[in-house]
Amino acid sequence: MTDIQATDFEALDRLEAEEKAKTPTKKVNLLGLSPKKMDEFFTGLGEKTFRTQQMLKWIHQIGESDFDKMTNMSKAMRAKLAEVAEISLPEIVMDKTSVDGTRKWVMRMPGGSSIETVYIPEKERGTLCISSQIGCALDCSFCSTGKQGFNRDLSVAEIIGQLFVASQSLDTPGEKRVRRITNVVMMGMGEPLLNFDNVVDSMELMLNDFAYSLSKRRVTLSTSGVVPMMDKLGDVADVSLAVSLHAGNDKLRDVLVPINKKYPIKELIEATNRYLEKLPDRRKATIEYTMMKDVNDGIEDAEEIAEVLKNTPCKINLIPFNPFPNSGYERPSNNRVYRFRDLLHERGFIVTIRSTRGDDIDAACGQLVGQVEDRTRRQQKYIDLHQVNDSDAV
Ligand code: SAH
Ligand code: SF4
Repeated sequence: MTDIQATDFEALDRLEAEEKAKTPTKKVNLLGLSPKKMDEFFTGLGEKTFRTQQMLKWIHQIGESDFDKMTNMSKAMRAKLAEVAEISLPEIVMDKTSVDGTRKWVMRMPGGSSIETVYIPEKERGTLCISSQIGCALDCSFCSTGKQGFNRDLSVAEIIGQLFVASQSLDTPGEKRVRRITNVVMMGMGEPLLNFDNVVDSMELMLNDFAYSLSKRRVTLSTSGVVPMMDKLGDVADVSLAVSLHAGNDKLRDVLVPINKKYPIKELIEATNRYLEKLPDRRKATIEYTMMKDVNDGIEDAEEIAEVLKNTPCKINLIPFNPFPNSGYERPSNNRVYRFRDLLHERGFIVTIRSTRGDDIDAACGQLVGQVEDRTRRQQKYIDLHQVNDSDAV
């Protein structure tokens, strides 16, 4: 009897092993778990949720990716973690620093495409500009990312991985940790609101006290104006909002920012106001305005945007166009930029001019290209959609 049972168990073990080999269980990458998902993960292992705080600290604050070195977890716990989980980091293929201190990392993503992340040090703050997608489907006429087409959304691990890599690289080994990244802007490659869930989870990690503990005022999401998603964002997050306007009338904005055909300026401004109303504090939106010579840099353009923005609490950030090969646009002279700024000042707006940083390493706004293979043709689908059918939601 005993013999037969033993044999049965052996057979069972063999079958199980064969089954396991056929379908290798994919390990969970803990780098990409939001605090809530990390809680679910530990609960699933039969653990208490205080493990989440420990794990977030190990990964995002200490930069540890080896379970064996996590000394406040028992040996059994670490063995269990190694069995079901991993901490898989992005692969850095380039790390360059500009003469002005701007630093750019190029990271290779599974599938062969790459993305770019830029750190801009200033006197009082350090800003990290991160990407949310590989390429972008929205095809703004003056943006080199848009010209690359769209490849895919970045996962949470790939979005937060940019912050992980930058904070680790900016630390000097052996020296006391200094917080160098004080601000994060989602202004790299891609339209963050079209990768909504992953961007929201990533922002939760940015704000979490056990991860990056950034102030919600210092995490900024920039959008070209995906109106329904702006409303959705207001329901789940209260980060700062930047809106890429670039024109004060629909005729011009339709050309520069094609998504305007679907969500024209009036709707965009109303959505911006709605978003600001939902915030618990009186925060202003940032209005981004990329200036292109003889396209949108005239006094009449400034008058138009002053009118459009008259009821929106905002500060305006003028971005002199950053050229890239075959863009077809030019940067206006400084005098024209100053004249534009002065008019908006006269109309009572707070206006800043974004200085071009990291020009020598192609790290300026709109120059991030990475390496994008547009396999999905999602960009073409968007263009077709906007031309033929204006009724579908994005
Ligand atoms: N997709 C989002 C965020 C990424 S683009 C958005 O459009 O808002 C970030 C900012 O860079 C946007 O304001 C965009 O208009 C600006 N930009 C794009 N190309 C540029 C260029 N060549 N020169 C200057 N600014 C540019
Ligand atoms: Fe996409 Fe923003 Fe570039 Fe437009 S400006 S193509 S939305 S990344």
